[in-house]
Amino acid sequence: MTKKVPCTHCAGELEVAERALSTVCPHCQKRLVLESFRIRTHYAVRLFATCGDIFVEKRGQVVATIRADNVTVNGRVRGDVTARGRVKIGPHGSLKGDITAPRLQVESGAALNGYLRIDAGRTRPSGGAPV
Ligand SMILES: [Zn+2]
Repeated sequence: MTKKVPCTHCAGELEVAERALSTVCPHCQKRLVLESFRIRTHYAVRLFATCGDIFVEKRGQVVATIRADNVTVNGRVRGDVTARGRVKIGPHGSLKGDITAPRLQVESGAALNGYLRIDAGRTRPSGGAPV
């Protein structure tokens, strides 16, 4: 089984094996992370990019610019978030940064501080599976 994903660096589309954890983008030759992450501790990087999903658990703290398929925040995130699918901030979640995504879900009790660009009607890249 393969799936099509957009490169998190150049946005070029590529076909990857469903279970692959990483690959090299044929367009820009950069390494591409495909796996999903669960963050339970403090995690700080410049760019946290994956074609998979990112879950920030209740005790997780992420300081990074995030690019992922779906992002769920139940802990704390500081940095801009760009998602291809949905960004969800749980009732204990806190996000400080700008969000760009087709869909946003903010639970009552969540903290959100930043600019939003939410556009569900945007033309999605072909092959993008509905979330
Ligand atoms: Zn690329």
